[in-house]
Amino acid sequence: MLRAMSDATNPERALVLFSGGQDSTTCLAWALQRYAEVETVGFDYGQRHAVELDCRPVVLAGLRAAFPGWSARLGADHLLDLRTLGQISDTALTQPRAIALQAGGLPNTFVPGRNLLFLTYAAALAYRRGAGVLVGGMCETDYSGYPDCRDLTMQALQLALSLGLDTRMQVHTPLMWLDKAATWALAQQLGGAALVELIRRETHTCYLGMRGDLHDWGHGCGDCPACALRRRGWQAFEAARA
Ligand code: ZN
Repeated sequence: MLRAMSDATNPERALVLFSGGQDSTTCLAWALQRYAEVETVGFDYGQRHAVELDCRPVVLAGLRAAFPGWSARLGADHLLDLRTLGQISDTALTQPRAIALQAGGLPNTFVPGRNLLFLTYAAALAYRRGAGVLVGGMCETDYSGYPDCRDLTMQALQLALSLGLDTRMQVHTPLMWLDKAATWALAQQLGGAALVELIRRETHTCYLGMRGDLHDWGHGCGDCPACALRRRGWQAFEAARA
């Protein structure tokens, strides 16, 4: 028989899955606009390029400096060690191999189970911190077919986590139906030119871990699928606001 869930978590307190990339930085701004208290969590899963993790504190410091109102709501940052995921997966993000399509049509940048594990670890941490909201940048629009980014996967996880923790654990994915141009536009709407510029300069997207020159769309190799997506999104965003 179902009974009322415990009130171990607070719906005004959010934990954002924050990688240091464009999408999760936009999600963090979204959460800071909405929730009284916001914390961040990142994962070291043995990714080939730790540059993304290096961007995290820089972006957080930039947000604090440019947005005092948000700074007051922004709490602790957590970094969890999930290197076991790198050990058990054989992908272009965790092993030195070229990015390619695999049988079944998924690119080999897909790390099986990644978001399932990330959200489960994030929920365990959120429970300890009393946070009832998880926010992530999962997206079906530009998602290369990753099945663990699907809206239905997220809804199923929200149900499983809430039941398994016996407390309401909301999973919010504000970018689910946005393309990259719309994600830039959301950043503009949330934090104006200052946020767009912070994301452009300081976030990391490139699958090859390259920073390189600062292009108009940001840093990166310019050629890998992640850079190409980011560049096309920026160009569409620029065209729309011109
Ligand atoms: Zn790249």
